[in-house]
Amino acid sequence: MSYDLIVIGGGPAGYVGAIRAAQLGKRIACVEKERAGGTCLNWGCIPTKALLKSAELYQLMNHAEEYGLKADKITFDFEKVVQRSRGVSDKMAKGVEFLFKNKKVDYFVGSGQVGKDKKVKVTGADGKTQVLETKNILIATGCVPRQLPGLKVDGDKVVTSREALVLKKQPKSVIVLGAGAIGIEFAYFFNAFGSKVTVVEMLPSILPLEDGEVSELVARSFTKSGMEILTDTKVEKTEVSSTGVKVSTSGKETKTLEAEMLLVAIGVQANLEGVLADGLKLDLEKGYIKTNDRYESSVPGIFAAGDIIGPPWLAHVASHEAIEAVEGIFVPGKKPHKVTVFPACTYCHPQVASIGITEKKAQEQKLKFKVGKVPYRASGKAVAAGEAEGFVKVIIGEPHGEILGAHIVGSDATELIAELGLAMTLEATVDEIHATIHAHPTLSEMVAEAALASHGQAIHI
Ligand SMILES: Cc1cc2nc3c(=O)[nH]c(=O)nc-3n(C[C@H](O)[C@H](O)[C@H](O)COP(=O)(O)OP(=O)(O)OC[C@H]3O[C@@H](n4cnc5c(N)ncnc54)[C@H](O)[C@@H]3O)c2cc1C
Repeated sequence: MSYDLIVIGGGPAGYVGAIRAAQLGKRIACVEKERAGGTCLNWGCIPTKALLKSAELYQLMNHAEEYGLKADKITFDFEKVVQRSRGVSDKMAKGVEFLFKNKKVDYFVGSGQVGKDKKVKVTGADGKTQVLETKNILIATGCVPRQLPGLKVDGDKVVTSREALVLKKQPKSVIVLGAGAIGIEFAYFFNAFGSKVTVVEMLPSILPLEDGEVSELVARSFTKSGMEILTDTKVEKTEVSSTGVKVSTSGKETKTLEAEMLLVAIGVQANLEGVLADGLKLDLEKGYIKTNDRYESSVPGIFAAGDIIGPPWLAHVASHEAIEAVEGIFVPGKKPHKVTVFPACTYCHPQVASIGITEKKAQEQKLKFKVGKVPYRASGKAVAAGEAEGFVKVIIGEPHGEILGAHIVGSDATELIAELGLAMTLEATVDEIHATIHAHPTLSEMVAEAALASHGQAIHI
């Protein structure tokens, strides 16, 4: 049987691309070697959010008295917290498997390998192989966690995000190496349940891609909640023993740290292992598949999307790229666009969300801009909810008032950012944002107020 498109990888790039192509009436197969939903649904976005929900609830219940409630002896069962998270992943993965059936995507469970002749060999877990023929291929094999050279991940004392999602018991102490979104979410999670957490980051701030003021606020909040945050600090040596891990650092903080577990969260790397058969060469850039404006690799007919084409490593970007790639292949006249503006979110507490450029970037690019900023404590809804920590900050271009960037730290930041994303897509100005009546009381009022603040007209600050 011959397909119009075979997608290799069933993550948010792969499954979304496959479904979109099927909607266009094409004959599609998706090959996934592990579980539909990819890293996102099984080992990333979704199971972490399930864990974080438990952590947030536990924290909230411990502050019940502030809300006039009595909840004595709040306890937790770590294994059940993890089990719930696995259950959520399972449900979501099953959902994608159902969608494949429903949308008429042929789903093959096995390892896909693209041959020089552009045929795809699928090897199942039992070692049996079959060869599929196709006109086009979309490689969406994603990334795997990057490991620290010379340090073996044993799933017990040394873990990456993957092992951290299936821990059998809670570690008493954790060193989190790397303060990007993944490291910071796990740091919040373990600390919320009472593990002693130390975060080690080589760069000058945690969440280094975020606006400086945002990173500072999260660092302050984390320190207040008992975590040790070491920035500008590099790992020199690690020693694993039967009881835990010793980490010697250099830089701003030269010390020897000890903990029961080390979580290595130093980023990800391209996952191309076994994907290309001998003799098939695609141009790569830093290990990632190099693609043109149509998401086509250096070999005609072989396309790629998602984490495998490089940063930003985000599920929503991966899905968007896959849709663009597939429509570029099958929709006559469609000119795919490359993603330039996208939200990035970190689901710790306080939450972090951003889109567009930071204030520092605007300065570096010598843009004419102004800043509008309002604190959560000025919002009635935030204070009523007991969530007064944080701010909304917008970077506004001058003289036209376009939105160059937005940075939110605080409760529900990851939901609030959507309005600013839409505004940027529609090329709305700051005046159009505050001319839009926002319901009261809502946190979204702060977006309108931040827009007003950029004119020096904020009412509540
Ligand atoms: C802990 C963690 C938390 C995260 N949280 C967020 C978040 O909150 N928000 C967000 O936007 N992003 C988050 N991410 C990133 C997000 O998961 C990725 O950006 C996203 O999954 C990328 O989608 P993808 O389809 O490109 O790749 P993946 O989701 O990695 O899917 C690739 C799939 O390809 C399969 N595969 C690989 N090789 C083969 C082969 N040869 N044959 C068949 N199948 C193959 C893999 O098994 C995998 O299922 C997180 C990541 C991690 C690790």
